[in-house]
Amino acid sequence: MPRVPAPRNRLKDTPVAGAKRVLLAAPRGYCAGVDRAVIAVEKALERFGAPVYVRKQIVHNIHVVSTLEKKGAIFVDDVEEVPTGSHIVFSAHGVSPAVVKGAADRELEAIDATCPLVTKVHREAVRFAKQDFEILLIGHHGHEEVEGTMGHAPERTTLVGSPADVPNIVVNNPDHVVWLSQTTLSVDETMETVRLLRERFPNLQDPPSDDICYATTNRQVAIRKVAAEAELVIVVGSANSSNTMRLVDVALEYGAKAAYRVDYASEIQQEWLDGVVTVGVTSGASVPEVLVQEVLDDLADAGYGDVSQVVTAEEDLMFSLPKELRKDADGNADERGLGGRVRQLDWQKNR
Ligand code: SF4
Repeated sequence: MPRVPAPRNRLKDTPVAGAKRVLLAAPRGYCAGVDRAVIAVEKALERFGAPVYVRKQIVHNIHVVSTLEKKGAIFVDDVEEVPTGSHIVFSAHGVSPAVVKGAADRELEAIDATCPLVTKVHREAVRFAKQDFEILLIGHHGHEEVEGTMGHAPERTTLVGSPADVPNIVVNNPDHVVWLSQTTLSVDETMETVRLLRERFPNLQDPPSDDICYATTNRQVAIRKVAAEAELVIVVGSANSSNTMRLVDVALEYGAKAAYRVDYASEIQQEWLDGVVTVGVTSGASVPEVLVQEVLDDLADAGYGDVSQVVTAEEDLMFSLPKELRKDADGNADERGLGGRVRQLDWQKNR
């Protein structure tokens, strides 16, 4: 889907009963895993030249994908589509061992941009499978991350798509089961699923640490606080982004009267703003800040120029590049920092 720049002054400044304002959730937007994955594709293009193939969307954001396409990335669904000997990047959502083998069989030069926090879940799956546990993986049917994780222990993993699935789960040994989860779920819904699982399997083992990642959790905590004070919440992000869609759910659950997801500012509808004094704004973990800035600009046109950040956590996590990209063409260590790119917004500079 091509970029749709928002024509300015499209939204009208209509009167409401109060001083219009925006509450901007923080943290929002890019997480360390997404930043690393996007930089990995950019660096692969710099190092090896176009085209560089990418299996699946590198991150679930149409703007990021179309921007990388313009630079020479080619996105494919399967390694079978990639010419022998080419470079291929595996996405932040991770892959199963079968995909890694498929790439090796085609003699592809693979660059693994799987987020280290997804790799952690893969390792847990392998370890628990070796200990003969049956793994109950809480996640969404068909999501790439779930497919990758299940592929690490396919014989021992059962997918739990929602709390409604719990009564129908069949295991061989109810006393030797463990739960793991996708990294981008709703914290509250996952805990409810775990509660129901534990009712059925009292000896259910917990993972060593939460699988829902810091970025997902932090963005949900921030939007909870914003939603409690906002009549309308706008979540910037793509429809196939799990963590983005969960932000919409959480906003509604925690008090927003309405919550909408948009890829671009141009999708904001005038009628959403009818009678709204406070608009909450956030963005999913794969969303570049420029798209949030455009939403703020359009909201300013509609009279919502008073922007306050609601900060619930500071994030400074950074991951090193995939090992295939850590050295430059001359073999020198690459010094480029990750996950910490300066993302100051124009509105912050001007206020
Ligand atoms: S949302 Fe979490 S698991 Fe996914 S890429 Fe970002 S940090 Fe990694």
